Amino acid sequence: MARRPMLAGNWKMFGTRSLTKELVTACAAAARAEPERDVLIAPPYTLLAYARELIGDAPVLLSAQDVHWEAKGAFTGEVSCDMLKEVGCTHVIIGHSERRQFFGETDASVADRTAAVLAAGMTPIVCVGETLQERESGRTEAVIERQVRGGLAKIDAGAIARTIVAYEPVWAIGTGKVATPEQAQEVHAQIRGLLAGLGGRADEVRILYGGSVKPDNVDQLMAQADIDGALVGGASLQADGFTRIVRFLR
Ligand code: PEP
Repeated sequence: MARRPMLAGNWKMFGTRSLTKELVTACAAAARAEPERDVLIAPPYTLLAYARELIGDAPVLLSAQDVHWEAKGAFTGEVSCDMLKEVGCTHVIIGHSERRQFFGETDASVADRTAAVLAAGMTPIVCVGETLQERESGRTEAVIERQVRGGLAKIDAGAIARTIVAYEPVWAIGTGKVATPEQAQEVHAQIRGLLAGLGGRADEVRILYGGSVKPDNVDQLMAQADIDGALVGGASLQADGFTRIVRFLR
């Protein structure tokens, strides 16, 4: 089945109001030029409301980079699903490797966040990926299986079709080292198999690749059967580069 491609920009801890204006303007134009593709941006929390205002009626989706699973409470520094919905987010990135590496995110907390986002009627973008050491010691498949099963452990099979998975090999994030299209395709096919094994409508789930996606490598990646989009960090902060990524294979 044809899955709608998604080109997603993870701005990480970058961005000002003026850059937001420049990027949203470019994303809106790119999204209008490619109505068969989803264009999504994930600015830092402080820029979400401003980005939403700038998006207006343009077909650009708004995502947060993380969320807490509780509805409210004494959790200093956290935000809830309802808070994100109130500013217009429809998607939330969960379990990014930088959250796992620097902020103690685990498969169990990924599962809690994923369940909360789905329960709130938003779409989680669940990130998985192996480190260089795990790849070099032949553990990629086992790590991906543990992260996929663990991250989706608290949702039922029916909800799997409402999730997006991002395969982001840790060794490729922000390093300029991109996985070869074949390496990425192999893991994407494994993930789709795992989703099917969990009883999900795996054919409907979009699996994004992330890790040094740039204008000059996006075409080869997007030509792979199981790569349905890209989660882009660094290159999503450049209007021209991200526009070219949205227009892959044109
Ligand atoms: C990311 O932040 O998810 C990412 C893939 O970053 P980069 O494109 O910079 O490697």
